[in-house]
Amino acid sequence: MPKAVLVDLTKCIGCRSCMVACKQWNDLPAERQGFVNDWATPRDTTAETWTVVKYYIKDKDGRVVWRFIKRQCMHCVDPACVKACFSGALRKTPEGPVIQDPSRCIACLYCFNACPFHVPRYRTGGKGPVIMQKCRFCFDPGGTYDRVGQGQAPACVRACPGGALKFGERDALLKEAKDRIAQNPGRYVNQVYGESEFGGTSWLYLSDVPFEELGFPGAARPAMVSLLTWTPLAAGLWLAAREA
Ligand code: SF4
Ligand code: SF4
Ligand code: SF4
Repeated sequence: MPKAVLVDLTKCIGCRSCMVACKQWNDLPAERQGFVNDWATPRDTTAETWTVVKYYIKDKDGRVVWRFIKRQCMHCVDPACVKACFSGALRKTPEGPVIQDPSRCIACLYCFNACPFHVPRYRTGGKGPVIMQKCRFCFDPGGTYDRVGQGQAPACVRACPGGALKFGERDALLKEAKDRIAQNPGRYVNQVYGESEFGGTSWLYLSDVPFEELGFPGAARPAMVSLLTWTPLAAGLWLAAREA
């Protein structure tokens, strides 16, 4: 069964332990960071930083609140990056993760342009060829960095002290996410981001602030679908009333 992670943004305390754990497990170096007018450093994922926690200050029910958003590859159910990669450097695994084979990467940027989340990043400095790098969901079959293939949770999930991250099977986590919404009226917006956005993703999110206010692409789509559904329905009702 495909694996997934459920991210409950109402539980994230913004500690960035997940970022440190990812670097430690994957032997990723620290990066020199110049001053940027942003709480998140680095501002976005890089070839050496596969996950970042973004900081948002929002107005919620008349109160100013902080919300912290962990970003990484979403490990899409039907990944656009894999379709775009003609050299076979990316593949979707039956276990859920979308993983890269750097030895096949020719740094054409096709995956970067295809990805709706702008995830793929390119290692350009130092020695060696330019290659694409991103979160591999701690799945490295036969390799040094494998966790998920060995039955362990990803390093970032293991490190999370706030209980914001939960690893498991996608179907079960999707059901749990919907149960949390149903059992906690008013706590969450009525949407599990990643259930269907861009064909569905292996990283699923719950939030109490609308996803479109937190930089999630395509988050407003359910409302558009609803509008598309209701417009013909309303037109039909109007025609029926006119005929009566
Ligand atoms: S988020 Fe982007 S890089 Fe990750 S699997 Fe989806 S399309 Fe590929
Ligand atoms: S799943 Fe693994 S590679 Fe991806 S962000 Fe978490 S620790 Fe890093
Ligand atoms: S470790 Fe957990 S609580 Fe801390 S920033 Fe990451 S997701 Fe949030």
